[in-house]
Amino acid sequence: MNTVVIIGGGASGIMAALTAAEDRENRVLLLERQQRIGRKLLATGNGRCNLTNTGASAEHYHGENPDFVRPALSRFPPEETLAFFHALGLLTVTEYGGRVYPLSNSANSVLDVLRFALDRAGVEQRTACPVRAISREDGGFGIQTDEGRLFAGKLVVACGGAAGGKLGGVTDGYELMKTLGHRRTGLYPALAPIYTDPEYPRALKGVRSQAALRLCRGGTTLGESEGELQFVEQGVSGPAVFELARAAAAEREGLALHVRFLPAGTDALALLRQRRACFPEQEAGELFTGMLHNRLGRMLVRYSGLNGSRAIGSLTDDELRRAAAACGDFVLPVRGTAGFDSAQVTAGGIRTEGVNPETLESRFVPGLFLCGELLDVDGDCGGYNLQWAWASGRLAGRLGR
Ligand SMILES: Cc1cc2nc3c(=O)[nH]c(=O)nc-3n(C[C@H](O)[C@H](O)[C@H](O)COP(=O)(O)OP(=O)(O)OC[C@H]3O[C@@H](n4cnc5c(N)ncnc54)[C@H](O)[C@@H]3O)c2cc1C
Repeated sequence: MNTVVIIGGGASGIMAALTAAEDRENRVLLLERQQRIGRKLLATGNGRCNLTNTGASAEHYHGENPDFVRPALSRFPPEETLAFFHALGLLTVTEYGGRVYPLSNSANSVLDVLRFALDRAGVEQRTACPVRAISREDGGFGIQTDEGRLFAGKLVVACGGAAGGKLGGVTDGYELMKTLGHRRTGLYPALAPIYTDPEYPRALKGVRSQAALRLCRGGTTLGESEGELQFVEQGVSGPAVFELARAAAAEREGLALHVRFLPAGTDALALLRQRRACFPEQEAGELFTGMLHNRLGRMLVRYSGLNGSRAIGSLTDDELRRAAAACGDFVLPVRGTAGFDSAQVTAGGIRTEGVNPETLESRFVPGLFLCGELLDVDGDCGGYNLQWAWASGRLAGRLGR
């Protein structure tokens, strides 16, 4: 029997363990520092678990070498992920943008089918078992835990990244890999809320809107996205914002977020003129009523410098133009991004140049495999990160076969 140890009972570690256990010559041991495996998985997709994206191709991933993901993804593309989970008994639905969720709408279902599969495959699980150190030994690795020392012939490190701190995101993996000669890039919170000047967001806390966003420095656009935006105490959150957090975290100074609240091509000025003609007696504070969330509409009136208690009929063309401009280009000065605790994924990680993309085996230490968010790979919002966790876990768990 070959003893294979997997460090980290998250998405990629569970997949690596199941794959390694397909070879009956392997005794597979899954070590997890938290009280239970898959804790982060339960929180994904707002508790619904957006487990993959049908359009997950290499273009949706970032890192120093974005091509690094290609071999793993081509061997285990989203169709394989779906086939894998369907074979475990999970029913899924595909929603807008190719986002796949369990039909039950519950992340628990995803973890449950994985847990049962681990049991069936005979994977030994040790929870509340943080790995403290790894050393190279003759024919394998010495693994130091609080319960004692273990030996592994082959080792998969799947410790995840620093994001989602409250759910167990830690930097252990980077530290453990450093002792084996692997280096990491800088780390940034990605898929995180963006902090802005809080004046308007604070007043709008909890309001959601569809929006088109541009992250700009001066006249240069650094990133664009479209989708749901949510106002929070210190700025903005939601899927459309998450898309831009990576750029906002890396750039920091002198950034502004430009928000368009109406669909492209909408002639806002014509709509507002029509309102002036139809509802002249109504207060200007209600100018956007029926078009936008009422709190957002009133805030845009204030942002345009208009007195909300005036009658709409008294507004000049110039004033309507200002209001129309506000809903087409509402500007929030950026102050930074939320930290790792509120981020869904870590941008950056273990440098991929030290890892063979065809096998995910370390180029420095034979028999050592790395997978998941620990590596310098982060995906877009929409199921891409879990797809990477499954695909890379699958490849690492093959142990070079
Ligand atoms: C709130 C939130 C929502 C998200 N929603 C989605 C989504 O809907 N779709 C999507 O694609 N992605 C989503 N993500 C991202 C996705 O969850 C991660 O990219 C993915 O879980 C990474 O898998 P992983 O196995 O690499 O790491 P993790 O899932 O973080 O697992 C790593 C495991 O290793 C353990 N560990 C760490 N150090 C040690 C040690 N020293 N010894 C033993 N064990 C250790 C950790 O406790 C953890 O359980 C979300 C993330 C968060 C935080």
